[in-house]
Amino acid sequence: METLTLPAQTGLSREQKTAITYATIMILIHLGILLVISTGVTPVAFLIAFIFYVVRGLGISMGYHRYFSHKSFKTSRFFQFILALMGSAANQGGVLWWSSTHRGHHKHSDQEEDLHSPIVHNFYHAHLGWMWSQDAYKKSKIRCNDLGKFPELKALNKYYAFVILFQIVAFYGLGVLLNSLYPELGTSGLQILVWGFFISTVFMWHSTFMVNSVCHIWGYQRYKNSGDFSRNNPFVSLLTFGEGWHNNHHKYGWSARNGFKWWEFDISFYLLKLLSVFGIVWDLKVPTKEQLTATH
Ligand SMILES: [Zn+2]
Ligand SMILES: [Zn+2]
Repeated sequence: METLTLPAQTGLSREQKTAITYATIMILIHLGILLVISTGVTPVAFLIAFIFYVVRGLGISMGYHRYFSHKSFKTSRFFQFILALMGSAANQGGVLWWSSTHRGHHKHSDQEEDLHSPIVHNFYHAHLGWMWSQDAYKKSKIRCNDLGKFPELKALNKYYAFVILFQIVAFYGLGVLLNSLYPELGTSGLQILVWGFFISTVFMWHSTFMVNSVCHIWGYQRYKNSGDFSRNNPFVSLLTFGEGWHNNHHKYGWSARNGFKWWEFDISFYLLKLLSVFGIVWDLKVPTKEQLTATH
């Protein structure tokens, strides 16, 4: 008698498909930079790239990281949405995915379950490879129920791909508009797309990714008992508005302030302090004087 056998499992899993999609999009965005060979640069294109590098960087640092992942300060529902939008514009994934992944990093820092530890894996995997692996898209054990209760954040997370598409259209459109209104600027739709979207995004990507790779390998460790290999790295801090003080951050993850000494510049914290003066953010959690001066 013939035995019935189940058809062999063919095709890719949902997580594998997501990983391949992300990898493809990220490679295409990297390749997009090559268009600069034909567009060249103008001061206005460079300025737009810089402005959006800052918007994206602060969206990640103040928004995705210090607010959504760590709840290190409070704000209104409106400004919370602005921070989510700025973070989404960095093209690093939806706000719920990013935050739950990052909370997982703190829970299992430099242990087997840490998705992007250069100690457990390797530099490449910590920097970039983990996002191209299916593990990054398996249902996280760490839920962001505190964020998921806001329908606008849930929607932004779900339809995050449209934020990318919108940016592509908007930057191109801005270039066309600038060229028609101010032809003396010598720019074009393609040039603003290349600088405002491709170059600015890729630079911000690698600055952020260095926090996961470089800041767990190179730099000084003020808190050797932080339970991981995190380091304080001034160069990464400069590029990420203060995120490179990563050993400080792993020690006091709940803190809105990452730079603890006067010379550990922390642009995101200074801006949060400024915003608190105007009542836009409040209840900034900051370590006590004793905690700041402690060396372990
Ligand atoms: Zn870390
Ligand atoms: Zn963190």
